[in-house]
Amino acid sequence: MKIWLDGGLRDIESARVSVFDHGLTVGDGIFETVKAQDGRPFALTRHLDRLTRSARGLGLPDPDHDEVRRACAAVLDANPMPLGRLRITYTGGHGPLGSDRGEHGPTLVVALGETTRRPDTTAVVTVPWTRNERGAVTGLKTTSYAENVVALARAHEHGASEALFGNTVGQLCEGTGSNVFVVLDGEIHTPPPASGCLAGITRQLVIEWTGAQETDLPLDVLERADEVFLTSTLRDVQAVHRVDGRELPGAPGPVTAKAMRVFDERAGADLDP
Ligand code: PLP
Repeated sequence: MKIWLDGGLRDIESARVSVFDHGLTVGDGIFETVKAQDGRPFALTRHLDRLTRSARGLGLPDPDHDEVRRACAAVLDANPMPLGRLRITYTGGHGPLGSDRGEHGPTLVVALGETTRRPDTTAVVTVPWTRNERGAVTGLKTTSYAENVVALARAHEHGASEALFGNTVGQLCEGTGSNVFVVLDGEIHTPPPASGCLAGITRQLVIEWTGAQETDLPLDVLERADEVFLTSTLRDVQAVHRVDGRELPGAPGPVTAKAMRVFDERAGADLDP
């Protein structure tokens, strides 16, 4: 397995990042997960734009898109696989112990893991912890994922594959690694970024391709929605068949099934939509 680090391809066994890298010591970093089918990345331009938005939000230098593209191509070339997840990590770099950044520039790592297509339906649980819709890093794709790790473990304890958060004012927000959509009276709704959710790339494509609306939704909408589905880079559009104790028989329902079809068709026809 070869990864990209410090401007070139390295064997994963010999690639080394400083133990004082601020991505490790204080979670000062950002990332993207990009799907790659048969060695070709999906929606890379949108991922690079979000990487830059996240970098600016953290006050990191703008990532060099040409270098990241070259890194992705090199890693994909060196590690052929039918369905992969590229992981682009960009951190504050080697620095002092503490939260001040050092003089050293950022660290860029691009790695690749194999993945498989997710099942068409899944179970989710809500968790009692909230997303802060007004935090300093809200909406940025930072490497500080501990809250998501804890919530996802809770989901797994309950036989679910995803945990959904509300925000501090009781609105539906997002999952640990996905956005959430609900169907009410045949219309598709998803929380707006002001709810504290990540502006997911799959979410945005689904909005553009299905006409789904951004709506402030109370968390308890999950108790009455006709259909619920998740979106993410690795799930694409995935129907929900159980929310907490509530079964949604027949998932994917008709509106979700159509969104899945539209997504597969459009995403299959355009690698960089
Ligand atoms: N929300 C969070 C917290 C995420 O980590 C992710 C993806 O990793 C998403 C939403 C979905 O975003 P995307 O569709 O860009 O993968």
